[in-house]
Amino acid sequence: MPDQSIKITGPFRQLLTMDKLPLKGSLKDAQLEIIEEAGIVHQNGLIIETGQFKSLCTKYSFAGITIQPIDTDLIVLPGLVDPHTHICWAGSRENDYALRLEGKSYAEIAQSGGGIWDTVNKTRHASGVELNKSLISKSSRQLSCGITTCEVKSGYALNLEGEIRLLEIIKAVRQEHPIDLVSTCLAAHIRPRDFEGTANEYLQYLTMMLLPLIKSEELSNRVDIFVDEGGFSAREAENYLKAAKKLGFDLVVHGDQFTSGGVHLAVNLGAKSVDHLEVIQSGEIKILAASDVVATALPGASLGLGCTFAPARRLLDAGCCLAIGSDWNPGSAPMGDLLVQTAILGTFEKLTNAEQLSAITFRAAQALGLNDRGILKKGYLADFIGFPGRNYREILYNQGMLKPRFVWKRGAQFF
Ligand SMILES: [Zn+2]
Repeated sequence: MPDQSIKITGPFRQLLTMDKLPLKGSLKDAQLEIIEEAGIVHQNGLIIETGQFKSLCTKYSFAGITIQPIDTDLIVLPGLVDPHTHICWAGSRENDYALRLEGKSYAEIAQSGGGIWDTVNKTRHASGVELNKSLISKSSRQLSCGITTCEVKSGYALNLEGEIRLLEIIKAVRQEHPIDLVSTCLAAHIRPRDFEGTANEYLQYLTMMLLPLIKSEELSNRVDIFVDEGGFSAREAENYLKAAKKLGFDLVVHGDQFTSGGVHLAVNLGAKSVDHLEVIQSGEIKILAASDVVATALPGASLGLGCTFAPARRLLDAGCCLAIGSDWNPGSAPMGDLLVQTAILGTFEKLTNAEQLSAITFRAAQALGLNDRGILKKGYLADFIGFPGRNYREILYNQGMLKPRFVWKRGAQFF
């Protein structure tokens, strides 16, 4: 029998609800709703009310209430949302890293047997048990870092059976792990070397053979494509994304990491988000700001490759909805620590605490099309995390190294 009792958790030194903030544009810390000596009332994994702990205890002082007392200073936020990862893979790419340090280019590394294709080979040959174990371990690390919702892409098999297998593994882990995993099909990562045909023919093959199967097996409702050098051109991607949209998928675009083209496509086709944006130009920032497409920055990839960051300050000032993802992957972003990367991007791009925290809570949820999390208010998921401390500014000031002491997922405490 699931526990149906009403619970009050608290008191918390500070509770940041992330409520009443705009979805788009710049934010000042003064706009944050902060409740001192706060509590959260929740039942069946959903929030009933937030407010001052003492008055909540009085209001709900009838029978059947469980008070979950907290006897230490905690700063509480909504559970974090990582809207962009590739954490279903096998192998390791430390040799690519060493070659990058020697100044080798992406193409040279790929030619010498490294790059995405190396991970594809290792992932194809890994057992399901191995991949499952690895995804569980990464999901557990995410949860311990306060991430209660995490997007995971396929894209390291690049053939029909392999991509289905990865999406099935993600589905299996989602069913057994407390973290919420949101799967995305990234079979259009690169054209696989063993596919006999053009990039267009590969995308047609995915459209005809893979996407309908994913739909009928309910393995994912999101389709992503890498629109860039080494991936697919905007022209090639357009037909593929149109076909995916027709089949009912939500769209996501890896765009403007090295070359432009992805933003127009994402806006024209009404994608949920366009991710990377390191080389986005002023005109495209304007177009993006006028749309409902979320701009997802991936500072982990900039750190991994030694490239510039996405212009997060300019994106916010223009009125974009900015999310931040870890891009956790074996090649360009092996660190996979969303909070550290957010704090680093915040320092370089001069983002306020409010802007950084929004980008990894409700604005990141928007990138995943989820409107039931990322804010602590009535009816939303009781996903919340508590950092040791007395002032919310301590969190990012510590550059991501202050980790949550407690993590609650759907009202249940995991750490
Ligand atoms: Zn990515």
